[in-house]
Amino acid sequence: MSPNATPPVASSLIAPPLGHALPSYLQADNLGPWGIYLQQVDRVIPYLGHLARWAETLKRPKRALVVDVPIQLDNGTVAHFEGYRVQHNTSRGPGKGGVRFHQDVTLSEVMALSAWMSIKNAAVNVPYGGAKGGIRVDPKALSRGELERMTRRYTSEIGIIIGPTKDIPAPDVNTNEQVMAWMMDTYSMNQGATATGVVTGKPVDLGGSLGRRDATGRGVFTVGMEAAQHIGLDVVSARVAVQGFGNVGGVAARLFAQTGARVVAVQDHGGTIYQASGLDVPALQAHVAATGSVAGFPQAEVIANDTFWDVDCDILIPAALEQQITAANAGRIKARMIIEGANGPTTPAADDILQERGILVLPDVIANAGGVTVSYFEWVQDFSSYFWSEDEINARLVRIMKEAFSGVWQVAQDHKVSLRTATFIVACKRILHARELRGLYP
Ligand code: NAD
Repeated sequence: MSPNATPPVASSLIAPPLGHALPSYLQADNLGPWGIYLQQVDRVIPYLGHLARWAETLKRPKRALVVDVPIQLDNGTVAHFEGYRVQHNTSRGPGKGGVRFHQDVTLSEVMALSAWMSIKNAAVNVPYGGAKGGIRVDPKALSRGELERMTRRYTSEIGIIIGPTKDIPAPDVNTNEQVMAWMMDTYSMNQGATATGVVTGKPVDLGGSLGRRDATGRGVFTVGMEAAQHIGLDVVSARVAVQGFGNVGGVAARLFAQTGARVVAVQDHGGTIYQASGLDVPALQAHVAATGSVAGFPQAEVIANDTFWDVDCDILIPAALEQQITAANAGRIKARMIIEGANGPTTPAADDILQERGILVLPDVIANAGGVTVSYFEWVQDFSSYFWSEDEINARLVRIMKEAFSGVWQVAQDHKVSLRTATFIVACKRILHARELRGLYP
């Protein structure tokens, strides 16, 4: 199958994309996520020196597995879903990256997400390669029992390539601690021994780590605070707009609000809300927990989804899906700084517009690396069966994020490049240096 091809729809259960006639990756700039990643790599090759010799490695996933996931539905019929696990690069260690359940998931998207994991893991210098997985399904259309059966069958199918020293999945969009518990149990049953280290993002009572739930949002907040200092932005009086109010966006919004910033706009799959004086973030979190969406939150004004990009704000946090900031809306954004909580939210064309307009973009490959950093801590704790306190975890996370960000900032200054290109320079050099040291097999 061509990497950009949309796989055949696997089940009549699959709902049309939320709020769109076409998935956003077909609408924006006409590039799939994998195409965007390839452009990002091309931009960095001139900075790789002699390591450029190995750059082709970055443009090909090491391994891509497509699996059929048949399950019996509650009504007795059988539905088939298409699942993926892609290991982009394992030069620096086992594959590592989340699993996404979404009706728009494609092989191209999972390939790009796996590649961004290689870059991210190298950028924060955790000893992993990059991987990602997903199932093309709308999980909201499944019962809990169907979701569990689908997760278990998928885990069994990809069981031939995952494992605590081979490739370690984690949560991503629409997957959570419970899904990780089912994955861990299924893998362990097939192995005949409990293998807590096969996934991260597990419940704390099953070998999960304290601090993991908030880690990505905390990392977003940490690099945001660091960058704000560099550009003289006072976060305490800043206005923040957040797209996506889940694990990443919800936590980042909470942490910014706790420092005094005003969260003025939030968009999720259900709609967009606005409150100039600042939304009550804990109350909004309680509303989302109860209703599933920010829609209908009583203490806010409803605005049109597209108006979100015109909102007067200082900090914009895309924390939903890819290709949200495109050439079509980048010119309208008012923020001074964009912190990419989501993976791949900005297209290369939009990146250029934002750079021209002097809007600082903190790229996904560093800004949302907090999650995988604490996943790394979880994996280390599982191996040693010795668990750390939450304070210790948060302190180590903040130290790693600050150090990584400061290194990337310096490279950006030295080469006069964007933070995205700087992060790619740091990461690609680490990956390709490892590649060179290992040599070509056989
Ligand atoms: P989540 O499922 O917890 O939340 C996703 C949010 O996006 C929800 O609020 C949902 O309503 C919203 N959303 C979905 N479709 C939307 C649309 N069309 N328009 C506006 N909002 C929409 O997922 P998450 O774990 O918070 O992940 C969000 C992003 O962050 C993804 O790009 C993911 O890859 C990335 N990320 C997640 C982690 C992690 O640890 N969870 C780590 C790194 C990166």
